[in-house]
Amino acid sequence: MGRYTGPSCKLCRREGVPLMLKGQRCLTDKCAVKKKKYPPGPPRKRRSKLSEYGIQLREKQKIKKSYGLLEKQFKLIFEEASRMKGVTGHNMLSLLERRLDNVVYRMGFATSRKQARQFVQHRHVLVNDRIVDIPSFVVREGFEVRIGDSFKESAMLTDAVKLSKAISSVPEWINADFENKSGKVVRLPNRQDVTANINEQLVVELYSK
Ligand code: SF4
Repeated sequence: MGRYTGPSCKLCRREGVPLMLKGQRCLTDKCAVKKKKYPPGPPRKRRSKLSEYGIQLREKQKIKKSYGLLEKQFKLIFEEASRMKGVTGHNMLSLLERRLDNVVYRMGFATSRKQARQFVQHRHVLVNDRIVDIPSFVVREGFEVRIGDSFKESAMLTDAVKLSKAISSVPEWINADFENKSGKVVRLPNRQDVTANINEQLVVELYSK
């Protein structure tokens, strides 16, 4: 399946918010959203006023880009969320959070979801002691995730762990053991665990049209 390979910062500038796609750089003053407070493309004085549909669409794009998904992948997740019991928007966020690439990122073993996806695809990640190279694999409560022995000492992993320790970014639904480069899903994520500024209800409204 194809994926976006253009500049990550342009995605953030389009949405006008930091989507944290580039790891450590996102935390510095070099962040393009901080430096250029206007969307990419021809210069405009200000962002145009959005219709109700436009607001819903931009929120969907924001969430989709944050998790690094294509439209089709995102839609499939939404459809699965709407088949589940409970609030569709919350289910959607839970499914997004439980993707293996996101879990590796949340555990602090990668500086971005993009890097985490690479680690998974390169077969550096094990789930319950078996290699899983599918970034969209959805973890469940009690699953153990660890980095393969051959990759444990890599510079990229060491840098990611250092950053993670510095900013204490591991959420409560996950346990991370930085020494052993392993972690466990102690419970499923709920709405409160997603601290990013997201309005998932707008996505529900958009797809309900
Ligand atoms: Fe987005 Fe990070 Fe680039 Fe800032 S540095 S614009 S948060 S990808």
